[in-house]
Amino acid sequence: MIPAAFDYVRASSLTQAIEFLRDNPDGARLLAGGHTLIPALKLRLASPELLIDIRSLAEIKGIEVGETHVKIGALTTHSELSASEPLNEIFPIFRETASVLADPQVRNRGTIGGSLANADPAADWPAVVLALRAQIEIAGATGRRSVPAEEFFLDIFSTALEPDEILASIQIPKAKTGTRYAYRKIRHPASGFAVVGIAIAMRMLDGVVEEASIGVTGATNHAFVGRDAVEFLTGKALTRDNIDEAARMLSEKTECLSDRYAPAEYRANLVRVELGRALLEFSQ
Ligand SMILES: Cc1cc2nc3c(=O)[nH]c(=O)nc-3n(C[C@H](O)[C@H](O)[C@H](O)COP(=O)(O)OP(=O)(O)OC[C@H]3O[C@@H](n4cnc5c(N)ncnc54)[C@H](O)[C@@H]3O)c2cc1C
Repeated sequence: MIPAAFDYVRASSLTQAIEFLRDNPDGARLLAGGHTLIPALKLRLASPELLIDIRSLAEIKGIEVGETHVKIGALTTHSELSASEPLNEIFPIFRETASVLADPQVRNRGTIGGSLANADPAADWPAVVLALRAQIEIAGATGRRSVPAEEFFLDIFSTALEPDEILASIQIPKAKTGTRYAYRKIRHPASGFAVVGIAIAMRMLDGVVEEASIGVTGATNHAFVGRDAVEFLTGKALTRDNIDEAARMLSEKTECLSDRYAPAEYRANLVRVELGRALLEFSQ
């Protein structure tokens, strides 16, 4: 439980943090909330030579509600996401998700940027940013670039971030009036992470699904969009039969992870049951 020796620097600007990364391409790790990284250091699952503390970088903190988009700085904590009235007035899914993420201690320190950059296949926020069709803003030595959330998660603990890049913010387009949201999660009883988590954004018009998006976490190597189920549901009423069919489609198309707690068949069944339950909430 004692980390290997490392050097520590506190970055005073995003540019400086990127320079530190560029100068130490293999041996440096960013420190945000530390609630994934520090346990990993203590267990020696990670042994970086240099920790770059980015916690004081005001330029990637906070929530801005603009005309067309909401911008969330990478260093915004899970608690801040839950507490923000302007954010939850538009996207109540942030409070709903934060309320089932870990415990108050973790929520007070852990950041959304750290969670997305870490890309734990069982983390909660990846499903939410997929359902909200967010863009992930990435800062690097040559400037900034924006990646759709759907292209950001590549594999288990693997993202579109290059070694010398920093996740700067999450930009979410405001949805049309009447869009509703839900996040459902089956928690692992020991870790609290998602065995399966489903985030939905949906707008109904005259009793049929006008527009929807579904983000799924926990089930596979990385969070993904439930596109086939959305295509099936669009233009249809949320009848029991249509819900069952969409849930069956998503479950059958998902190549689920298997572990000692949840074999693949069990996870696939959870995908079916949880999507069905989540969709039922929109039918009422
Ligand atoms: C007991 C416990 C229970 C938890 N339960 C849950 C849960 O139920 N659901 C859930 O989703 N999560 C859970 N977590 C994880 C928690 O949400 C972490 O806070 C989060 O995964 C990582 O965020 P962090 O800010 O702590 O990042 P850190 O631990 O500081 O960093 C994590 C990784 O991301 C990198 N990184 C951090 N910020 C950036 C950035 N801006 N750009 C690029 N790379 C960056 C770091 O270098 C590191 O590799 C739990 C953690 C603990 C300890």
